[in-house]
Amino acid sequence: MSELSPNHIQFDQTVFQKIFDKINTLIFLIDTSGKVLKSNFYAKKMVNIKSLLPKKDWEKVERVIQSGLIETDPHIEIETELIIDSDKTWHSCRIGCLERCAEDEAVFFIAFNSIQAQKLREESLINAKERAESQEKIKSSFIANMSHEIRTPMNSIIGFSDLIGRTDNQEEQSQYLEIIKSSGRFLLNIINDVIDISQIESGFLHIKAQRVNINYLINELADIYRSDARLDKQNVEIITMMPLEDKKALILTDKTRIRQILSNLLDNAVKFTKKGNIEFGYKLIKKKENEGFPLIRFHVKDTGIGIPEPEQELIFDRFHQVREGDQSIGSGLGLAIVKALVEKLGGSLSLVSKNGIGSEFSFIIPYLQPNTQEPDTRESMMRGAIPDLKGRHILIAEDIDENYKLVSSALKKSSVKLTWAKNGKEAVEAVIRDEHFDLVLMDLSMPIMDGYKATEHIKALQPKLPIIALTAHVVDGDMEKAFEAGCDDYIKKPLDILSFYRKLNFHLNM
Ligand code: ADP
Repeated sequence: MSELSPNHIQFDQTVFQKIFDKINTLIFLIDTSGKVLKSNFYAKKMVNIKSLLPKKDWEKVERVIQSGLIETDPHIEIETELIIDSDKTWHSCRIGCLERCAEDEAVFFIAFNSIQAQKLREESLINAKERAESQEKIKSSFIANMSHEIRTPMNSIIGFSDLIGRTDNQEEQSQYLEIIKSSGRFLLNIINDVIDISQIESGFLHIKAQRVNINYLINELADIYRSDARLDKQNVEIITMMPLEDKKALILTDKTRIRQILSNLLDNAVKFTKKGNIEFGYKLIKKKENEGFPLIRFHVKDTGIGIPEPEQELIFDRFHQVREGDQSIGSGLGLAIVKALVEKLGGSLSLVSKNGIGSEFSFIIPYLQPNTQEPDTRESMMRGAIPDLKGRHILIAEDIDENYKLVSSALKKSSVKLTWAKNGKEAVEAVIRDEHFDLVLMDLSMPIMDGYKATEHIKALQPKLPIIALTAHVVDGDMEKAFEAGCDDYIKKPLDILSFYRKLNFHLNM
Protein backbone atom coordinates (compact mmCIF):
# COMPACT_ATOMS: atom_id res chain seq x y z
CA MET A 1 0.00 0.00 0.00
CA SER A 2 1.31 3.51 -0.83
CA GLU A 3 2.58 5.60 2.08
CA LEU A 4 1.50 8.80 0.37
CA SER A 5 -1.82 10.52 0.96
CA PRO A 6 -3.90 11.18 -2.19
CA ASN A 7 -2.69 14.79 -2.21
CA HIS A 8 0.87 13.67 -2.60
CA ILE A 9 0.40 11.27 -5.50
CA GLN A 10 2.69 12.17 -8.34
CA PHE A 11 0.57 12.08 -11.47
CA ASP A 12 3.27 10.50 -13.51
CA GLN A 13 3.00 8.05 -16.36
CA THR A 14 2.48 5.02 -14.08
CA VAL A 15 -0.59 6.54 -12.47
CA PHE A 16 -2.10 7.43 -15.83
CA GLN A 17 -1.30 3.93 -17.11
CA LYS A 18 -3.25 2.51 -14.13
CA ILE A 19 -6.23 4.77 -14.81
CA PHE A 20 -5.95 3.94 -18.49
CA ASP A 21 -6.21 0.23 -17.65
CA LYS A 22 -8.86 0.40 -14.96
CA ILE A 23 -11.34 2.58 -16.78
CA ASN A 24 -14.29 0.60 -18.13
CA THR A 25 -13.86 1.94 -21.66
CA LEU A 26 -12.09 0.55 -24.71
CA ILE A 27 -9.25 2.95 -25.50
CA PHE A 28 -6.92 2.74 -28.49
CA LEU A 29 -4.08 4.93 -29.64
CA ILE A 30 -3.58 4.65 -33.39
CA ASP A 31 -1.32 6.13 -36.02
CA THR A 32 -2.36 7.73 -39.30
CA SER A 33 -2.54 4.34 -41.03
CA GLY A 34 -4.98 3.08 -38.40
CA LYS A 35 -2.42 0.76 -36.80
CA VAL A 36 -2.98 0.26 -33.07
CA LEU A 37 0.03 1.66 -31.16
CA LYS A 38 -1.30 1.06 -27.70
CA SER A 39 -4.54 -0.05 -26.11
CA ASN A 40 -5.76 -0.30 -22.54
CA PHE A 41 -6.46 -3.48 -20.58
CA TYR A 42 -10.07 -3.79 -21.81
CA ALA A 43 -9.09 -3.31 -25.45
CA LYS A 44 -5.90 -5.27 -25.57
CA LYS A 45 -7.26 -8.31 -27.40
CA MET A 46 -8.46 -6.23 -30.29
CA VAL A 47 -5.54 -5.41 -32.47
CA ASN A 48 -7.33 -4.66 -35.70
CA ILE A 49 -9.50 -1.64 -35.02
CA LYS A 50 -10.72 -1.40 -38.60
CA SER A 51 -12.41 -4.80 -38.36
CA LEU A 52 -14.27 -3.72 -35.21
CA LEU A 53 -16.24 -1.01 -36.95
CA PRO A 54 -18.87 -1.14 -39.68
CA LYS A 55 -17.39 0.18 -42.97
CA LYS A 56 -19.33 3.44 -42.99
CA ASP A 57 -18.17 4.31 -39.45
CA TRP A 58 -14.55 3.44 -40.19
CA GLU A 59 -14.75 5.93 -43.08
CA LYS A 60 -15.72 8.63 -40.55
CA VAL A 61 -12.66 7.71 -38.46
CA GLU A 62 -10.48 8.00 -41.55
CA ARG A 63 -11.82 11.49 -42.22
CA VAL A 64 -10.79 12.57 -38.70
CA ILE A 65 -7.32 11.09 -39.33
CA GLN A 66 -7.02 13.06 -42.59
CA SER A 67 -8.03 16.34 -40.98
CA GLY A 68 -5.78 15.60 -37.99
CA LEU A 69 -2.85 16.36 -40.22
CA ILE A 70 -4.16 19.83 -41.03
CA GLU A 71 -6.51 21.00 -38.26
CA THR A 72 -5.58 21.66 -34.64
CA ASP A 73 -8.08 19.61 -32.67
CA PRO A 74 -10.31 17.51 -34.94
CA HIS A 75 -12.64 15.12 -33.17
CA ILE A 76 -16.06 13.49 -33.61
CA GLU A 77 -18.50 11.52 -31.54
CA ILE A 78 -20.57 8.81 -33.18
CA GLU A 79 -22.79 5.91 -32.15
CA THR A 80 -21.68 2.68 -33.75
CA GLU A 81 -22.29 -1.03 -33.49
CA LEU A 82 -18.99 -2.74 -32.61
CA ILE A 83 -18.55 -6.26 -33.91
CA ILE A 84 -16.83 -8.17 -31.12
CA ASP A 85 -16.55 -11.96 -31.56
CA SER A 86 -19.28 -11.70 -34.21
CA ASP A 87 -21.67 -10.11 -31.66
CA LYS A 88 -22.86 -6.59 -32.36
CA THR A 89 -23.14 -4.16 -29.46
CA TRP A 90 -23.90 -0.47 -29.49
CA HIS A 91 -21.11 1.89 -28.34
CA SER A 92 -20.65 5.63 -28.29
CA CYS A 93 -17.31 6.39 -29.88
CA ARG A 94 -15.13 9.44 -29.50
CA ILE A 95 -12.18 9.94 -31.90
CA GLY A 96 -9.69 12.77 -31.65
CA CYS A 97 -6.15 13.76 -32.45
CA LEU A 98 -3.85 13.32 -29.42
CA GLU A 99 -0.61 14.67 -30.78
CA ARG A 100 0.88 15.76 -34.08
CA CYS A 101 4.40 14.22 -34.29
CA ALA A 102 5.59 15.29 -37.73
CA GLU A 103 4.07 16.78 -40.85
CA ASP A 104 2.48 13.52 -41.92
CA GLU A 105 2.48 11.71 -38.57
CA ALA A 106 0.04 12.03 -35.69
CA VAL A 107 -1.33 9.91 -32.86
CA PHE A 108 -5.10 9.56 -32.44
CA PHE A 109 -7.21 8.18 -29.63
CA ILE A 110 -10.45 6.26 -30.02
CA ALA A 111 -12.56 5.54 -26.95
CA PHE A 112 -15.66 3.33 -26.95
CA ASN A 113 -18.28 3.26 -24.19
CA SER A 114 -21.04 0.65 -24.24
CA ILE A 115 -24.53 2.11 -24.67
CA GLN A 116 -26.13 -1.26 -25.38
CA ALA A 117 -28.52 -1.13 -22.39
CA GLN A 118 -29.61 2.38 -23.29
CA LYS A 119 -30.14 1.35 -26.94
CA LEU A 120 -32.24 -1.67 -25.92
CA ARG A 121 -34.39 0.57 -23.71
CA GLU A 122 -34.80 3.02 -26.59
CA GLU A 123 -35.70 0.20 -28.97
CA SER A 124 -38.30 -1.25 -26.65
CA LEU A 125 -39.80 2.22 -26.14
CA ILE A 126 -39.95 2.76 -29.90
CA ASN A 127 -41.54 -0.68 -30.38
CA ALA A 128 -44.08 -0.01 -27.65
CA LYS A 129 -44.91 3.36 -29.23
CA GLU A 130 -45.30 1.79 -32.69
CA ARG A 131 -47.46 -1.00 -31.27
CA ALA A 132 -49.66 1.50 -29.47
CA GLU A 133 -49.95 3.61 -32.63
CA SER A 134 -50.84 0.63 -34.81
CA GLN A 135 -53.35 -0.63 -32.21
CA GLU A 136 -54.85 2.83 -32.15
CA LYS A 137 -55.07 2.82 -35.96
CA ILE A 138 -56.63 -0.68 -36.01
CA LYS A 139 -59.11 0.42 -33.35
CA SER A 140 -60.12 3.58 -35.20
CA SER A 141 -60.50 1.81 -38.55
CA PHE A 142 -62.38 -1.01 -36.77
CA ILE A 143 -64.81 1.46 -35.23
CA ALA A 144 -65.25 3.29 -38.55
CA ASN A 145 -65.85 -0.01 -40.37
CA MET A 146 -68.21 -1.32 -37.70
CA SER A 147 -70.22 1.84 -37.66
CA HIS A 148 -70.66 1.54 -41.44
CA GLU A 149 -71.45 -2.19 -41.25
CA ILE A 150 -74.07 -1.73 -38.53
CA ARG A 151 -75.69 1.32 -40.08
CA THR A 152 -76.32 -0.44 -43.41
CA PRO A 153 -78.68 -3.18 -42.12
CA MET A 154 -80.10 -0.85 -39.45
CA ASN A 155 -81.04 1.56 -42.19
CA SER A 156 -83.00 -1.18 -43.96
CA ILE A 157 -84.65 -2.38 -40.76
CA ILE A 158 -85.81 1.09 -39.71
CA GLY A 159 -86.70 2.22 -43.26
CA PHE A 160 -88.71 -0.86 -44.23
CA SER A 161 -90.41 -1.11 -40.80
CA ASP A 162 -91.65 2.40 -41.44
CA LEU A 163 -92.78 1.54 -45.00
CA ILE A 164 -94.57 -1.62 -43.90
CA GLY A 165 -96.91 0.49 -41.77
CA ARG A 166 -97.69 2.76 -44.71
CA THR A 167 -98.87 0.14 -47.19
CA ASP A 168 -101.87 -2.20 -47.27
CA ASN A 169 -100.52 -4.14 -50.22
CA GLN A 170 -99.81 -7.64 -48.87
CA GLU A 171 -97.24 -8.45 -51.51
CA GLU A 172 -95.27 -5.33 -50.65
CA GLN A 173 -95.59 -6.04 -46.95
CA SER A 174 -94.20 -9.54 -47.26
CA GLN A 175 -91.40 -8.25 -49.50
CA TYR A 176 -90.46 -5.61 -46.87
CA LEU A 177 -90.68 -8.23 -44.14
CA GLU A 178 -88.20 -10.44 -45.98
CA ILE A 179 -85.76 -7.50 -46.22
CA ILE A 180 -86.18 -6.75 -42.50
CA LYS A 181 -85.56 -10.41 -41.62
CA SER A 182 -82.46 -10.73 -43.76
CA SER A 183 -81.07 -7.41 -42.48
CA GLY A 184 -81.68 -8.63 -38.92
CA ARG A 185 -79.77 -11.83 -39.66
CA PHE A 186 -76.96 -9.84 -41.26
CA LEU A 187 -76.76 -7.62 -38.16
CA LEU A 188 -76.66 -10.64 -35.90
CA ASN A 189 -73.80 -12.13 -37.94
CA ILE A 190 -71.83 -8.92 -37.52
CA ILE A 191 -72.42 -8.93 -33.76
CA ASN A 192 -71.32 -12.57 -33.52
CA ASP A 193 -68.21 -11.82 -35.59
CA VAL A 194 -67.30 -8.87 -33.37
CA ILE A 195 -67.75 -10.97 -30.23
CA ASP A 196 -65.54 -13.69 -31.74
CA ILE A 197 -62.83 -11.22 -32.77
CA SER A 198 -62.79 -9.66 -29.32
CA GLN A 199 -62.72 -13.08 -27.61
CA ILE A 200 -59.85 -14.20 -29.84
CA GLU A 201 -57.91 -11.01 -29.15
CA SER A 202 -58.42 -11.09 -25.40
CA GLY A 203 -57.30 -14.75 -25.33
CA PHE A 204 -60.72 -15.62 -23.91
CA LEU A 205 -61.64 -18.11 -26.58
CA HIS A 206 -61.34 -21.59 -25.14
CA ILE A 207 -61.37 -24.77 -27.15
CA LYS A 208 -63.26 -27.75 -25.76
CA ALA A 209 -62.63 -31.34 -26.77
CA GLN A 210 -66.02 -32.88 -27.57
CA ARG A 211 -67.22 -36.01 -29.35
CA VAL A 212 -68.21 -34.93 -32.82
CA ASN A 213 -69.47 -37.14 -35.57
CA ILE A 214 -68.12 -35.34 -38.59
CA ASN A 215 -70.34 -37.30 -41.00
CA TYR A 216 -73.45 -36.03 -39.18
CA LEU A 217 -72.01 -32.54 -39.06
CA ILE A 218 -71.31 -32.50 -42.79
CA ASN A 219 -74.72 -33.91 -43.67
CA GLU A 220 -76.39 -31.33 -41.45
CA LEU A 221 -74.42 -28.48 -43.06
CA ALA A 222 -75.15 -29.85 -46.54
CA ASP A 223 -78.91 -29.82 -45.75
CA ILE A 224 -78.70 -26.25 -44.48
CA TYR A 225 -76.72 -24.92 -47.44
CA ARG A 226 -78.70 -26.85 -50.06
CA SER A 227 -81.78 -24.97 -48.89
CA ASP A 228 -79.95 -21.64 -48.47
CA ALA A 229 -81.81 -18.85 -50.27
CA ARG A 230 -78.51 -17.42 -51.56
CA LEU A 231 -77.62 -20.64 -53.41
CA ASP A 232 -78.37 -20.64 -57.14
CA LYS A 233 -79.96 -24.10 -56.93
CA GLN A 234 -80.41 -24.47 -60.70
CA ASN A 235 -76.72 -24.00 -61.45
CA VAL A 236 -74.77 -24.93 -58.33
CA GLU A 237 -74.61 -28.39 -56.81
CA ILE A 238 -73.43 -29.06 -53.27
CA ILE A 239 -71.34 -32.23 -53.04
CA THR A 240 -70.06 -33.81 -49.84
CA MET A 241 -67.00 -35.96 -49.30
CA MET A 242 -67.09 -38.28 -46.27
CA PRO A 243 -64.78 -41.25 -46.82
CA LEU A 244 -65.02 -42.67 -43.26
CA GLU A 245 -67.82 -44.93 -42.02
CA ASP A 246 -69.89 -43.36 -39.22
CA LYS A 247 -68.08 -45.28 -36.46
CA LYS A 248 -64.70 -43.97 -37.57
CA ALA A 249 -66.07 -40.47 -38.18
CA LEU A 250 -66.46 -39.85 -34.46
CA ILE A 251 -63.60 -37.54 -33.44
CA LEU A 252 -62.58 -35.35 -30.53
CA THR A 253 -62.58 -31.69 -31.34
CA ASP A 254 -64.52 -28.50 -30.59
CA LYS A 255 -67.82 -28.99 -32.37
CA THR A 256 -68.99 -25.36 -32.27
CA ARG A 257 -65.73 -24.11 -33.70
CA ILE A 258 -65.42 -26.74 -36.46
CA ARG A 259 -68.97 -25.97 -37.45
CA GLN A 260 -68.28 -22.24 -37.39
CA ILE A 261 -65.16 -22.61 -39.57
CA LEU A 262 -66.97 -24.76 -42.16
CA SER A 263 -70.05 -22.49 -42.12
CA ASN A 264 -67.92 -19.39 -42.73
CA LEU A 265 -66.12 -21.07 -45.64
CA LEU A 266 -69.41 -22.39 -47.05
CA ASP A 267 -71.01 -18.92 -46.72
CA ASN A 268 -68.24 -17.53 -48.91
CA ALA A 269 -68.40 -20.42 -51.39
CA VAL A 270 -72.17 -19.93 -51.77
CA LYS A 271 -71.76 -16.15 -52.13
CA PHE A 272 -69.07 -16.32 -54.78
CA THR A 273 -70.18 -19.34 -56.89
CA LYS A 274 -72.75 -18.82 -59.61
CA LYS A 275 -72.29 -22.08 -61.50
CA GLY A 276 -70.64 -25.48 -61.09
CA ASN A 277 -70.31 -27.01 -57.66
CA ILE A 278 -69.25 -26.58 -54.07
CA GLU A 279 -67.56 -29.66 -52.68
CA PHE A 280 -66.82 -29.94 -48.99
CA GLY A 281 -65.82 -32.66 -46.59
CA TYR A 282 -62.69 -34.27 -45.26
CA LYS A 283 -59.96 -36.76 -45.99
CA LEU A 284 -57.90 -38.84 -43.58
CA ILE A 285 -54.15 -38.38 -43.86
CA LYS A 286 -52.68 -41.63 -42.60
CA LYS A 287 -49.19 -41.55 -41.21
CA LYS A 288 -46.59 -44.25 -40.93
CA GLU A 289 -45.96 -45.72 -37.50
CA ASN A 290 -43.88 -43.47 -35.20
CA GLU A 291 -44.84 -40.46 -37.25
CA GLY A 292 -47.34 -39.18 -34.74
CA PHE A 293 -51.12 -38.84 -34.91
CA PRO A 294 -52.99 -39.36 -38.12
CA LEU A 295 -54.43 -36.10 -39.39
CA ILE A 296 -57.68 -35.09 -40.94
CA ARG A 297 -57.91 -32.53 -43.72
CA PHE A 298 -61.14 -30.58 -44.15
CA HIS A 299 -61.80 -28.65 -47.34
CA VAL A 300 -64.34 -26.39 -49.00
CA LYS A 301 -63.79 -26.17 -52.74
CA ASP A 302 -65.79 -24.11 -55.20
CA THR A 303 -65.92 -23.35 -58.90
CA GLY A 304 -66.66 -19.69 -58.21
CA ILE A 305 -65.04 -16.42 -59.21
CA GLY A 306 -61.71 -17.21 -57.51
CA ILE A 307 -59.29 -14.84 -55.84
CA PRO A 308 -56.52 -13.02 -57.75
CA GLU A 309 -53.01 -14.02 -56.64
CA PRO A 310 -51.94 -10.71 -55.02
CA GLU A 311 -55.08 -10.75 -52.82
CA GLN A 312 -54.65 -14.29 -51.56
CA GLU A 313 -52.63 -13.33 -48.47
CA LEU A 314 -54.55 -10.14 -47.76
CA ILE A 315 -58.04 -11.65 -47.57
CA PHE A 316 -57.17 -13.13 -44.16
CA ASP A 317 -56.76 -9.60 -42.78
CA ARG A 318 -59.76 -8.07 -41.10
CA PHE A 319 -62.12 -6.17 -43.39
CA HIS A 320 -60.11 -6.99 -46.51
CA GLN A 321 -62.36 -7.66 -49.46
CA VAL A 322 -61.31 -8.25 -53.04
CA ARG A 323 -63.95 -6.45 -55.03
CA GLU A 324 -65.81 -3.18 -54.63
CA GLY A 325 -69.23 -4.82 -54.33
CA ASP A 326 -68.15 -7.46 -51.78
CA GLN A 327 -68.97 -5.22 -48.82
CA SER A 328 -72.65 -5.41 -49.62
CA ILE A 329 -72.56 -9.15 -48.93
CA GLY A 330 -70.17 -9.49 -46.02
CA SER A 331 -68.26 -7.69 -43.32
CA GLY A 332 -64.76 -8.89 -44.25
CA LEU A 333 -64.30 -10.44 -40.79
CA GLY A 334 -65.09 -14.07 -41.63
CA LEU A 335 -61.71 -15.30 -42.84
CA ALA A 336 -59.81 -13.48 -40.06
CA ILE A 337 -61.95 -15.44 -37.58
CA VAL A 338 -61.62 -18.72 -39.50
CA LYS A 339 -57.83 -18.40 -39.56
CA ALA A 340 -57.64 -17.69 -35.82
CA LEU A 341 -60.03 -20.56 -35.00
CA VAL A 342 -58.13 -23.07 -37.14
CA GLU A 343 -54.91 -22.05 -35.38
CA LYS A 344 -56.65 -22.46 -32.00
CA LEU A 345 -57.59 -26.02 -33.02
CA GLY A 346 -53.92 -26.70 -33.68
CA GLY A 347 -54.06 -26.48 -37.46
CA SER A 348 -53.35 -24.02 -40.22
CA LEU A 349 -55.49 -22.69 -43.01
CA SER A 350 -54.44 -22.94 -46.68
CA LEU A 351 -55.83 -21.48 -49.84
CA VAL A 352 -55.40 -22.51 -53.45
CA SER A 353 -57.28 -20.28 -55.84
CA LYS A 354 -57.28 -19.23 -59.49
CA ASN A 355 -58.98 -16.08 -60.57
CA GLY A 356 -62.07 -16.96 -62.59
CA ILE A 357 -61.72 -20.73 -61.95
CA GLY A 358 -62.42 -21.28 -58.24
CA SER A 359 -60.99 -21.59 -54.75
CA GLU A 360 -60.17 -24.30 -52.26
CA PHE A 361 -59.77 -23.51 -48.56
CA SER A 362 -58.45 -26.35 -46.44
CA PHE A 363 -57.18 -27.03 -42.94
CA ILE A 364 -55.64 -29.97 -41.16
CA ILE A 365 -56.28 -30.99 -37.55
CA PRO A 366 -55.28 -34.08 -35.54
CA TYR A 367 -57.54 -37.12 -36.00
CA LEU A 368 -58.27 -38.07 -32.41
CA GLN A 369 -60.92 -40.67 -31.63
CA PRO A 370 -62.70 -40.83 -28.26
CA ASN A 371 -62.19 -44.00 -26.24
CA THR A 372 -65.78 -45.21 -26.40
CA GLN A 373 -67.38 -45.89 -29.69
CA GLU A 374 -71.06 -45.31 -28.77
CA PRO A 375 -72.83 -43.59 -31.60
CA ASP A 376 -73.47 -39.90 -31.15
CA THR A 377 -77.11 -40.37 -30.23
CA ARG A 378 -77.66 -36.68 -29.59
CA GLU A 379 -76.83 -35.92 -33.17
CA SER A 380 -78.95 -38.64 -34.68
CA MET A 381 -81.93 -37.71 -32.55
CA MET A 382 -81.97 -34.07 -33.47
CA ARG A 383 -84.71 -33.37 -35.91
CA GLY A 384 -86.04 -29.99 -36.89
CA ALA A 385 -89.80 -30.47 -37.39
CA ILE A 386 -92.35 -28.52 -35.26
CA PRO A 387 -92.68 -30.87 -32.32
CA ASP A 388 -96.04 -32.29 -31.35
CA LEU A 389 -96.05 -31.60 -27.62
CA LYS A 390 -99.64 -32.52 -26.82
CA GLY A 391 -99.93 -33.43 -23.15
CA ARG A 392 -96.54 -31.91 -22.31
CA HIS A 393 -96.00 -29.06 -19.88
CA ILE A 394 -93.14 -26.56 -20.17
CA LEU A 395 -92.19 -23.96 -17.57
CA ILE A 396 -90.71 -20.76 -19.03
CA ALA A 397 -88.74 -18.50 -16.70
CA GLU A 398 -88.40 -15.21 -18.57
CA ASP A 399 -88.69 -11.62 -17.34
CA ILE A 400 -89.12 -9.88 -20.70
CA ASP A 401 -92.64 -9.95 -22.20
CA GLU A 402 -91.49 -9.92 -25.85
CA ASN A 403 -89.16 -12.86 -25.28
CA TYR A 404 -91.96 -14.89 -23.69
CA LYS A 405 -94.25 -13.95 -26.57
CA LEU A 406 -91.67 -15.14 -29.10
CA VAL A 407 -91.26 -18.54 -27.41
CA SER A 408 -94.99 -19.02 -26.92
CA SER A 409 -95.66 -18.06 -30.58
CA ALA A 410 -92.99 -20.50 -31.75
CA LEU A 411 -94.75 -23.23 -29.73
CA LYS A 412 -98.32 -22.27 -30.64
CA LYS A 413 -98.80 -25.12 -33.10
CA SER A 414 -97.21 -27.72 -30.84
CA SER A 415 -100.24 -27.93 -28.46
CA VAL A 416 -97.92 -27.72 -25.47
CA LYS A 417 -99.11 -26.38 -22.11
CA LEU A 418 -97.01 -23.40 -20.96
CA THR A 419 -96.53 -21.86 -17.53
CA TRP A 420 -94.86 -18.47 -17.37
CA ALA A 421 -92.66 -17.47 -14.41
CA LYS A 422 -91.42 -13.89 -14.53
CA ASN A 423 -88.29 -14.44 -12.46
CA GLY A 424 -86.24 -17.26 -10.93
CA LYS A 425 -88.15 -17.14 -7.65
CA GLU A 426 -91.52 -17.63 -9.37
CA ALA A 427 -90.03 -20.55 -11.32
CA VAL A 428 -88.83 -22.29 -8.14
CA GLU A 429 -92.22 -21.67 -6.50
CA ALA A 430 -94.01 -23.21 -9.50
CA VAL A 431 -91.90 -26.37 -9.16
CA ILE A 432 -92.50 -26.45 -5.38
CA ARG A 433 -96.26 -26.20 -5.99
CA ASP A 434 -95.56 -29.56 -7.59
CA GLU A 435 -96.93 -28.74 -10.97
CA HIS A 436 -95.85 -31.50 -13.25
CA PHE A 437 -93.36 -30.10 -15.71
CA ASP A 438 -91.60 -31.98 -18.50
CA LEU A 439 -89.01 -29.29 -19.20
CA VAL A 440 -87.88 -25.82 -18.06
CA LEU A 441 -86.70 -23.03 -20.37
CA MET A 442 -84.60 -20.81 -18.14
CA ASP A 443 -83.52 -17.25 -18.91
CA LEU A 444 -80.26 -16.60 -17.04
CA SER A 445 -80.40 -12.90 -16.16
CA MET A 446 -83.62 -12.09 -14.35
CA PRO A 447 -84.53 -9.81 -11.42
CA ILE A 448 -85.16 -11.06 -7.85
CA MET A 449 -83.53 -14.45 -8.53
CA ASP A 450 -81.38 -15.14 -11.58
CA GLY A 451 -81.47 -18.29 -13.70
CA TYR A 452 -78.31 -19.82 -12.23
CA LYS A 453 -79.73 -19.77 -8.67
CA ALA A 454 -83.17 -20.90 -9.81
CA THR A 455 -81.60 -23.82 -11.71
CA GLU A 456 -79.68 -24.91 -8.60
CA HIS A 457 -82.89 -24.87 -6.51
CA ILE A 458 -84.97 -26.70 -9.11
CA LYS A 459 -82.29 -29.35 -9.70
CA ALA A 460 -82.15 -29.92 -5.91
CA LEU A 461 -85.93 -30.50 -5.96
CA GLN A 462 -86.23 -32.46 -9.20
CA PRO A 463 -82.82 -33.58 -10.49
CA LYS A 464 -84.29 -35.32 -13.55
CA LEU A 465 -86.27 -32.33 -14.83
CA PRO A 466 -84.40 -31.08 -17.93
CA ILE A 467 -83.49 -27.39 -17.86
CA ILE A 468 -82.46 -25.54 -21.00
CA ALA A 469 -80.78 -22.16 -20.51
CA LEU A 470 -82.27 -19.63 -22.88
CA THR A 471 -79.81 -16.84 -22.96
CA ALA A 472 -78.24 -13.90 -24.72
CA HIS A 473 -75.04 -14.55 -22.76
CA VAL A 474 -72.85 -15.93 -25.49
CA VAL A 475 -69.45 -15.56 -23.88
CA ASP A 476 -67.88 -18.98 -23.16
CA GLY A 477 -67.65 -18.56 -19.37
CA ASP A 478 -71.40 -17.91 -19.02
CA MET A 479 -72.28 -21.19 -20.68
CA GLU A 480 -69.93 -23.06 -18.40
CA LYS A 481 -71.51 -21.32 -15.39
CA ALA A 482 -74.94 -22.40 -16.61
CA PHE A 483 -73.81 -26.02 -16.90
CA GLU A 484 -72.23 -25.84 -13.45
CA ALA A 485 -75.53 -24.60 -12.03
CA GLY A 486 -77.17 -27.73 -13.45
CA CYS A 487 -78.55 -26.73 -16.87
CA ASP A 488 -78.70 -29.64 -19.29
CA ASP A 489 -78.39 -27.60 -22.45
CA TYR A 490 -78.60 -24.06 -23.76
CA ILE A 491 -80.19 -22.15 -26.58
CA LYS A 492 -78.75 -18.86 -27.70
CA LYS A 493 -80.84 -15.77 -28.16
CA PRO A 494 -81.89 -14.52 -30.62
CA LEU A 495 -83.81 -17.70 -31.00
CA ASP A 496 -83.06 -19.85 -34.03
CA ILE A 497 -86.46 -21.53 -34.33
CA LEU A 498 -85.18 -24.63 -36.11
CA SER A 499 -82.51 -25.43 -33.52
CA PHE A 500 -85.04 -24.61 -30.76
CA TYR A 501 -87.37 -27.33 -32.13
CA ARG A 502 -84.44 -29.73 -32.47
CA LYS A 503 -83.47 -29.27 -28.83
CA LEU A 504 -87.05 -29.75 -27.65
CA ASN A 505 -87.33 -32.90 -29.75
CA PHE A 506 -84.16 -34.19 -28.23
CA HIS A 507 -84.90 -33.40 -24.57
CA LEU A 508 -88.49 -34.50 -24.67
CA ASN A 509 -87.35 -37.71 -26.36
CA MET A 510 -89.70 -37.35 -29.26
P1 ADP B 1 -66.77 -11.44 -46.14
O1 ADP B 1 -67.68 -11.40 -44.96
O2 ADP B 1 -66.66 -10.13 -46.85
O3 ADP B 1 -67.03 -12.59 -47.04
P2 ADP B 1 -64.34 -12.82 -45.49
O4 ADP B 1 -63.24 -12.46 -44.54
O5 ADP B 1 -65.06 -14.10 -45.26
O6 ADP B 1 -65.35 -11.61 -45.47
O7 ADP B 1 -63.77 -12.81 -46.95
C1 ADP B 1 -62.97 -11.71 -47.38
C2 ADP B 1 -63.01 -11.57 -48.87
O8 ADP B 1 -62.33 -12.67 -49.49
C3 ADP B 1 -64.41 -11.60 -49.48
O9 ADP B 1 -65.05 -10.34 -49.39
C4 ADP B 1 -64.09 -11.99 -50.92
O10 ADP B 1 -63.63 -10.85 -51.63
C5 ADP B 1 -62.91 -12.96 -50.75
N1 ADP B 1 -63.35 -14.39 -50.73
C6 ADP B 1 -63.49 -15.17 -49.64
N2 ADP B 1 -63.89 -16.42 -49.98
C7 ADP B 1 -64.00 -16.43 -51.32
C8 ADP B 1 -64.37 -17.44 -52.29
N3 ADP B 1 -64.70 -18.69 -51.93
N4 ADP B 1 -64.36 -17.07 -53.60
C9 ADP B 1 -64.01 -15.82 -53.98
N5 ADP B 1 -63.66 -14.83 -53.13
C10 ADP B 1 -63.65 -15.12 -51.81
